[in-house]
Amino acid sequence: MKIYSCCGNESITKKYFCPECGSSEFEEREVSNDGTVYSFTKIHIAPAEFAGIAPYYVVLVQLDEANAKVTARMEEEVAIGDKVVLDREEGGAYLYKKVPSAEVVN
Ligand SMILES: [Zn+2]
Repeated sequence: MKIYSCCGNESITKKYFCPECGSSEFEEREVSNDGTVYSFTKIHIAPAEFAGIAPYYVVLVQLDEANAKVTARMEEEVAIGDKVVLDREEGGAYLYKKVPSAEVVN
């Protein structure tokens, strides 16, 4: 996943200007998609296009390799602190899945 940074602020979305210094020159770097669940919301009543997969979770993922968070969708139960990886991108949305605990290496 691509990260844009300036003045120590990192984001997955490219802004027009840095809020700190006003520069439009952002440093870009590629980081791992892996992350940790920072917070989540369970969606019971979904918009029509997602009704078929409800209930699902809207998860804020703290990336492991950047000081940035990604809003993602998950279809399985999660808890804060769970390790997650990008499963796929769908219509501009990130779908994450849990890392099986046997594969978590600390
Ligand atoms: Zn800046």
